[in-house]
Amino acid sequence: MSSIDESDFITWINSLMATRLMIPIDLYFLRDSFNRTGIDKMLNITPTKLEELMEFIIDDVELPDEDYDELNKDAVEVYGLLHARFLLTERGLNQVRDLYENGEYGQCPRHACDGQNVLPIDAQLPPPEPNHVQIYCPKCEEIYRIGEKTKSPISGAFFGADLPQTFFMAFPELRPKRSVHKAKCVTK
Ligand SMILES: [Zn+2]
Repeated sequence: MSSIDESDFITWINSLMATRLMIPIDLYFLRDSFNRTGIDKMLNITPTKLEELMEFIIDDVELPDEDYDELNKDAVEVYGLLHARFLLTERGLNQVRDLYENGEYGQCPRHACDGQNVLPIDAQLPPPEPNHVQIYCPKCEEIYRIGEKTKSPISGAFFGADLPQTFFMAFPELRPKRSVHKAKCVTK
């Protein structure tokens, strides 16, 4: 649900993300500069540039000498990395829990895992594919690429490498029993 405080950028990216299993980042989280510590270095941009991008994200402030498409592209990358961090907060993890329990992230392709729900992960499997998200199955503890390849700007980095580990630390009761016949194909 959009609010009157929401910038055009946030309304736009939330509509884009809704179909890509990202969750809207709380505005208070976006406004807290602590949460973006180090993102300038990760993206190889200056701290000033990062603050300009945050002004664009939060308040639609555009820079007169900046190409809009370029600005938007950089803002998506910043927003994506903040999303990976937001997922690890209590509020983020609770929303991930809903998506996971409803099977929204998909199911393990391994027959032996019997439709086990999975979580997104940034596993950086070679070769790197910027528009790809990988999935982690907690039953066989394997990582898979999702078959679908899209032109969506959303990548594994928007979910981070630590999501499954943090998720099952927060909700240990949701961790399934490890699949015994890991390497075997079980026919029913
Ligand atoms: Zn599995």
